[in-house]
Amino acid sequence: MPGGHSQTLRPFLWCAERLYPDTEIVSRTHEGRTRHTYAEYADRTAQLANALDEHGIERGDRVATFCWNHTRHFETYFGVPSTGAQLHTINPLLPDEHIQYIVDDADDEIVFVDPSLAGKLAGAAEGAEEFADVDFVVMGSTEIDELDATPYEEFIADQSTEYDWPELDGDQPAGLCYTSGTTGKPKGVEYTQSMLWSHTMASQTPQGIPMEDADVVMPVVPMFHVNAWGMPFTATAAGAKHVYPGPSPDPADLAALIEEEGVTISAGVPTVWLGLREHIAEGNDVDLSTLDTVIVGGAAAPQSLIEWYDDRGVEVLHAWGMTELSPIGTVSHLTSDLRDADYETQVDKRAKQGLVVPGLEFEVIDENGEEIPWDGEAFGELRIRGPWVTKEYFARPDASEDEFVDGWLKTGDVVTVDGDGYIQLVDRTKDVIKSGGEWISSVELENAIMAYDGVSEATVVGVPHERWQERPVAFVVPGDGVDREALVDEIQAGLHDDYPKWWVPDAVEFIDEVPKTATGKFSKKDLRERYADQSLVEGSVPEEDAPEQE
Ligand code: ADP
Repeated sequence: MPGGHSQTLRPFLWCAERLYPDTEIVSRTHEGRTRHTYAEYADRTAQLANALDEHGIERGDRVATFCWNHTRHFETYFGVPSTGAQLHTINPLLPDEHIQYIVDDADDEIVFVDPSLAGKLAGAAEGAEEFADVDFVVMGSTEIDELDATPYEEFIADQSTEYDWPELDGDQPAGLCYTSGTTGKPKGVEYTQSMLWSHTMASQTPQGIPMEDADVVMPVVPMFHVNAWGMPFTATAAGAKHVYPGPSPDPADLAALIEEEGVTISAGVPTVWLGLREHIAEGNDVDLSTLDTVIVGGAAAPQSLIEWYDDRGVEVLHAWGMTELSPIGTVSHLTSDLRDADYETQVDKRAKQGLVVPGLEFEVIDENGEEIPWDGEAFGELRIRGPWVTKEYFARPDASEDEFVDGWLKTGDVVTVDGDGYIQLVDRTKDVIKSGGEWISSVELENAIMAYDGVSEATVVGVPHERWQERPVAFVVPGDGVDREALVDEIQAGLHDDYPKWWVPDAVEFIDEVPKTATGKFSKKDLRERYADQSLVEGSVPEEDAPEQE
């Protein structure tokens, strides 16, 4: 199909520029806040596109970013793909060897880098042949010491604010994001124009994360991670005001942006919202009155978090997704049937990962290869397919058999589905704890433990065990001044009341911090490695000597 009629990103900006020319795009920077209107943004995006052409970037070439959330980064979101090039957002928190690997794998021509991240990038690039042909542009107006890089403002300065945008096909690669590689090498997920288009349109349905022109949208989820869950595109499609929190925002920075910019919708992993809660609990007075909705995803939203924000008039919308899904798959809206249900029933549903977004199909397959009944009890691996679900990994068309089957993406998530169709994630296939041949959901235990006062964060992992194959151990980050012994007793007793005896963790260990992956999720792998040679539990054995799993 010829472009112009295809499903591409460009019309979203075309519309915002014409209908909402004065609506703002705001960024927190080290030098204070910057403000641009959509009209100015569109001009600068055209300048960027012209500069890329002059630099020799052609259709299909890959252009990378190594940046926090800010307006210049957002300029690449439309400026790069709408020329026909492909935007590769790199996670700057990855280890150097992963960065080298993905720059090589993606064959990036140019990297746009933040001044505050230039040292990190220079470290990864130094002496690495993967970077031999890569040019750098630094996101600012002055040169920097760490890298030989053209300042962005100089890069675009003399360019025209008009650009002859090409007609692109929906199949044209527009984005690229590598999954964090918690298992093995990072895998590239390519987003075509039509995947991003359909993801945006599905986000804009009432069952997605809809926005309107009056909204003020603040993506805290990093723009290097699956396009900040697509929010910059959805906010543009809506003509909403954008607020970008800039480099490493802390809860006080977020609070200031919410209050002063009037943020109505924000999104981030649970740690972000737990952090803001703690900031307020410490006695900081934060006005949340404009904030209608926070989208919580990437990891399970604890029920206690949902209730805490409810009490302050902020709706937590729990969403589930994956890099492979551009990323949104389910959102936990209440169906109309449940709107009159009691609060407890409602929160129970909202704490699940939710209802599949229209446009996607899923099936859940148990250990015997059978589809599970929708009874909220039976569980199996979630498989999903649809217009914004990737069908293979970048540059690895043949190596994808474990992840894809008959057109379905195997998510690696173990779920139940209840009679109303709400999906609940019980675990990842690799984190589920198998004790005496039975499955224990580490996620459910974590949620239960995190509901106790005095628990700031908690995670549960299986340790190899001579008799039971695996036994659960809980790792808890205590709040300030907590009586640890009493807390352990309380948790153990509470879990005994609520769960089968064999679910109760054999040990509760206190740690200062739960190790996190480069995308801010709990890294159980780190904990397992750290404690591999310690016998935390009677009968536990080092990983390498562990009995075979059934
Ligand atoms: P990675 O797998 O590299 O951590 P992704 O961001 O693609 O990167 O992670 C997707 C996974 O994150 C999902 O498969 C799921 O296990 C987990 N996840 C995402 N959203 C949620 C959620 N709301 N609740 C629980 N787990 C979630």
